[in-house]
Amino acid sequence: MKKVSNIVDDYRYSLRKRISSTYISIYLMICLIVMIVFVAGYALYSYSKFSSYTPDIAQSIIHKIEVDGSIEPNEFRFFLSSLGGDQNVSEILLYNEQNELLVSTTYANSAVDFYETQDRNVLTSIFPQFSKLDLGYYADQYTDSAVSGGLKIVVYYSLSTFMDEYVFIIKTLALTLTAGLLIFILIGFSRTEQMLRPIAEVTKVAKQINGENLNLRIDEKDARYELKELVQTINKMMDRIQISYNKQKRFVSDVSHELRTPIAVISGYGSMLKRWGKTDPAILDESIDAIINEASNMNDLVEKLLFLARNDNENITFEMDLCDVAKLCGDTVKETMLVHSDYEVQLDIQNQIFAKIDEMRIKQLFRILIDNAVKYSLSRKYIAVSLKAENDGFVFSVKDKGIGISKEDLPNIFDRFYRADESRTKLTGGYGLGLAMAKIIVLGHKGKIHVVSKVDDGSEFSVKIPLNLPQ
Ligand code: ADP
Repeated sequence: MKKVSNIVDDYRYSLRKRISSTYISIYLMICLIVMIVFVAGYALYSYSKFSSYTPDIAQSIIHKIEVDGSIEPNEFRFFLSSLGGDQNVSEILLYNEQNELLVSTTYANSAVDFYETQDRNVLTSIFPQFSKLDLGYYADQYTDSAVSGGLKIVVYYSLSTFMDEYVFIIKTLALTLTAGLLIFILIGFSRTEQMLRPIAEVTKVAKQINGENLNLRIDEKDARYELKELVQTINKMMDRIQISYNKQKRFVSDVSHELRTPIAVISGYGSMLKRWGKTDPAILDESIDAIINEASNMNDLVEKLLFLARNDNENITFEMDLCDVAKLCGDTVKETMLVHSDYEVQLDIQNQIFAKIDEMRIKQLFRILIDNAVKYSLSRKYIAVSLKAENDGFVFSVKDKGIGISKEDLPNIFDRFYRADESRTKLTGGYGLGLAMAKIIVLGHKGKIHVVSKVDDGSEFSVKIPLNLPQ
């Protein structure tokens, strides 16, 4: 048998049970209000109806006395009995000013009980079971009275017809409401279950998801209203997690791949050195050069990876200082182009542009973009560099007439290790990390980077960085 605490927990943690019981409570409350309003309303209506007959009856009696001049009990009793037949009048009593019974439709002397029983009559007529108590003869009667011409006329109305109707209607109402409650429970439970099914689905799918099956998604078919939005949001979140998980996986495999080549080269030359290097000076020289070159490549790669890792861990800091960007740009172009003297370089650098930037990183950014322009325009060796102050920032742009970038590649070139069309770029070397770093530097300065490129026509990279000057 289920423990009580388990049942309580079941209720506490079950949204379905909570929602259903809330609606059932509301329904029961409405039923209660309907019953109360009906019981009270119908009673008030009936009593007001009875009370409206009393003045007419009193008027007929006074009229009769005026016409007759006196009250002859036997004849008057007969007259009283003829009054109010249609209005459920059961008894009429006539009292004088001293509260003495003059005449009544029956022979009973009810004068003594009259005031005592009046209140009870109202009570017992609403709750007939009270009549079982010793409330006497008047238990199912409603009493009304009128005072006219020094006489008190007391009229007793029989409530039996009214009570029968009343009980019948209450029973019908109670039965209907109970049937409604049953239907409500049945439909309510299954509807809530149906509406909350997507939550169960979310739980089921969430339990199954792990690194190997990140492609699992929640079925959106059954979800409606806010739950549809929830399911769609979770599914979109899963899409993003899957994309970034796959990127991470690819990143690790790309790094291993990039490191494998220099390690293989170094170990190959090491073996060569061991075998022949001691005796053959040419092999010795070649091996040493190759090892130094590969070590420097590895160093370059590791530096770039460290930069990206620091950014991922949010450990990257920018040392912002006031600096002449124009001078920085001119120097960087000069240094870079020193080794590419065969290139035609067009410069358009505005004089003195001061901005608060991380000088080292902005230089790195300029270098990445100039290097790429050089690397990817081997056939038409032309690059144009421009730097201009614009509103509250500076715009740096590098244009080349090289191989260009296709529309399909454009959205991806800022991704790590992305290299557009290997066959076209394999001669250039590089790891596909430069633009990923450039983007981090630009965003770190709250700037924007923009590319316009056409295959075989060339590319233009523009960067806009705020001057960020102190006020
Ligand atoms: P890489 O080290 O391969 O140059 P980047 O991240 O700097 O890495 O660039 C990513 C890719 O974007 C490059 O492999 C190349 O395909 C493309 N790319 C970048 N700059 C240019 C350019 N100026 N002209 C043509 N393609 C470019």
